Amino acid sequence: MRSPRLAAAALKLPVGGLGASRPLFRAPLTGGAVSATYAGRVRAVVVGAGIGGLAAAIALDQAGVEPIVIERAPELREAGFGLVVSANAVTALRSLGLREGVAARGTRVRRAEIRNPRGDLLTLLDYEALGWETYGILRSDLQQAMLEAVPGDPLRLGTTCIGATEDGEALLDGAEAVVADIVVGADGVRSAVRRSLFGEELLRYGGHRAWRAGTRFDDERTRDRFVEVWGVGGGFGFGPAGSGRVYWYCFEAVPEGAPAPERPRDEFLGRYGAWFDPIPALIESTEPDAIEPTFTYDRPPRRTWGRGRVTLLGDAAHPMKPNIGQGAAQALEDAVVLGSCIGPNRDPEEALREYERRRVKRANAVVRASRRAGRAAEGRSPLAARLRDIVMKALPDRLTVAQLRNIAEFRP
Ligand SMILES: Cc1cc2nc3c(=O)[nH]c(=O)nc-3n(C[C@H](O)[C@H](O)[C@H](O)COP(=O)(O)OP(=O)(O)OC[C@H]3O[C@@H](n4cnc5c(N)ncnc54)[C@H](O)[C@@H]3O)c2cc1C
Repeated sequence: MRSPRLAAAALKLPVGGLGASRPLFRAPLTGGAVSATYAGRVRAVVVGAGIGGLAAAIALDQAGVEPIVIERAPELREAGFGLVVSANAVTALRSLGLREGVAARGTRVRRAEIRNPRGDLLTLLDYEALGWETYGILRSDLQQAMLEAVPGDPLRLGTTCIGATEDGEALLDGAEAVVADIVVGADGVRSAVRRSLFGEELLRYGGHRAWRAGTRFDDERTRDRFVEVWGVGGGFGFGPAGSGRVYWYCFEAVPEGAPAPERPRDEFLGRYGAWFDPIPALIESTEPDAIEPTFTYDRPPRRTWGRGRVTLLGDAAHPMKPNIGQGAAQALEDAVVLGSCIGPNRDPEEALREYERRRVKRANAVVRASRRAGRAAEGRSPLAARLRDIVMKALPDRLTVAQLRNIAEFRP
């Protein structure tokens, strides 16, 4: 597992650590991107500065374990479209001290609706009555709130991790390895840390391409609710994302890698132009280059997320289909639980295994629930879609609430 070249280059200092017997690390890294010398406190390396990695950095610091964050992108730039910050995500954000920052930047969402393309209501979730505090926010605004809370100067941008070893080395591309008490792989769905622990694993194509966009749009029908519209082989959704801004998305069942239409906005105006208001106007209001495609993936859930001093977090651990808007929420939950397991006087390996024990079952259940929800929303036959709508409409909303309650009500 260990790369002899990189391992020999790593410099370990006997300063004590998360487990007292373990040397702390010093990171005399070449290449300019990472350059720091540490001494005196326990250390962690977080790989990836997405929502999961930033949350992990904040949680670790709060637990008294100062992290550095290795990020391959030369600059941090989140998208101008939004995401749903579900009630369990808000609970996690509160634990991290980020709830106020998100509430100030995002929009409180009072209800969620599922409708058919004519606008008939199939399901209503009254978040307000349920006490499920939910927000819509631009990803860039969430990232900003998180960056402001990341302590010190832990980010090492433009640095690619190529794997990690069980004894706590983060191997870097073109630079010396960093040796740490713990390594947290938060490097997303194609995680290099995961691959180095468990080898190549199946990445399952989710069966659809999602398009996401943000636009300035102020309309009564977009101010306080998320609406998802289920059609045949795909659908459309929209909701608020901060004052005067709306996030919308659509998803289409296409083969993996299918070529994108030349003018997506025109394509969507054709496809959704007859759907209920304000869908056509929302698309019309959007700058063409503000609409971005993503193919969606997940992986079969795995029961083991770590080995030795290494663990996984967020999409690296449990990539899921986006259908119930839980990927980032689960990453935030991971971070909170990780922070509560880690502490300056704990054995690192024990702490990581406790984190995994407390998280694996729940996160994997959400991966499965996301996949099930995808099957319902993306039905490709008109007859099946019609039947689905009839069943959905007849089904009491409280049954949907009962299915979601366990996810929404996270107790750290
Ligand atoms: C269409 C769609 C809609 C979604 N909507 C929602 C929603 O409404 N609500 C919700 O909660 N979730 C939603 N999600 C899921 C959510 O976006 C993800 O689960 C979440 O962003 C994962 O965060 P992460 O930090 O684990 O991974 P990522 O965001 O993928 O971050 C990984 C980071 O690691 C870096 N990196 C990767 N490899 C390396 C390497 N080798 N070395 C160094 N750095 C590396 C990357 O550059 C990146 O910055 C949605 C997902 C999709 C696809």
